[in-house]
Amino acid sequence: MSPVPATAPAHVRPPAPAARSGPVALDVIIPVFNEEEVLELLLERLGQELGPDKLSAHGVSRVRLLFVDDGSTDATARLLAQRIEAGLDARLIRLSRNFGHQSAVCAGLDHVESELAVVMDADLQDPPELLLPMVERWRQGADVVFARRRRRKGNPVKRMGYWAFYRLVAFLSEIQLPLDTGDFGLLDRRVVQALRSLPENLRFPRGLRAWVGFRQEALEYDRPERPLGRPKYTFTKLYQLATDGIAAMSTRPLQVAQVGSFFFGLLTIAFLAMLVWGYFAAPGEIPRPFLLTYALIATGFCVQSFCLYILGAYVGRTYLEVKGRPPYVVMEIVVPKERQP
Ligand code: UDP
Ligand code: MG
Repeated sequence: MSPVPATAPAHVRPPAPAARSGPVALDVIIPVFNEEEVLELLLERLGQELGPDKLSAHGVSRVRLLFVDDGSTDATARLLAQRIEAGLDARLIRLSRNFGHQSAVCAGLDHVESELAVVMDADLQDPPELLLPMVERWRQGADVVFARRRRRKGNPVKRMGYWAFYRLVAFLSEIQLPLDTGDFGLLDRRVVQALRSLPENLRFPRGLRAWVGFRQEALEYDRPERPLGRPKYTFTKLYQLATDGIAAMSTRPLQVAQVGSFFFGLLTIAFLAMLVWGYFAAPGEIPRPFLLTYALIATGFCVQSFCLYILGAYVGRTYLEVKGRPPYVVMEIVVPKERQP
């Protein structure tokens, strides 16, 4: 008889994640696009939340800001370069034009050097006071700590749109996407490496973050309003984000399109048969099912058009992906003097 194992097999009871001790460094990725109004306030709040005392209490040896300027046309890049020149412990990656927030996040991830990385917005809607609690969660074993919005303030139409978007993407996605979470979150180095190693060029970082797996935990918060400046996500950009998110995470819309077209095709054939039958059964009269058939063909036409739209969304993205262009182009990297070659 084989001896009874002292502990349950690994697949029954996974080992508890090891608490992580020791000093860690943190890179804070901040995509910025025309954020000159809010920059000073952002740096001030970061300075308050990440002061030396607080950092040492949480075992954080160093915090470096990693700004990604997404082709700003205002003074954002100049102001940041001046602050770095004046001694701010930060790097500035300047993209050659506006590639969009998602590409800017990817550029940031590609330039992470520390053990930990946080992605956050510049407009203080991602509160800096969550950074150290995120590090604590990482210490307790989480590899990804994403912030989940309990409540969101601001434009009600946009709020509704986001609400619907997250639910639609989660419903359509083949992997489990956490609801009401943006890119704001902390990533362990292994997660950053996994994200970097993905081959696709059209990227939806918050979806890929869920896809790579590891140990993921949510940190709940109330999302405040932007204190200064205007939102840089226009409705066109939000639409792009929504369709990119759905197309990047799922092929289910294609299946829905296939099933939908098939179903309507069958119905149309059935009613057309009734039309022919009516024509011969009662010659001279307008066949009864005529209107119904007409209505069905018209509806079927709408469904077909919608299916073509879905198909087009995927074909277009496949075309862009096949071309293999990078998601962004770096124009310049500004680093503090002591790091200059
Ligand atoms: N952003 C960017 N490129 C863009 C649009 C936005 O880098 O094309 C940045 C912006 O500067 C901010 C973050 O992405 O740091 C979120 O943008 P915004 O606050 O406008 O989005 P919202 O909070 O309205 O969704
Ligand atoms: Mg914002």
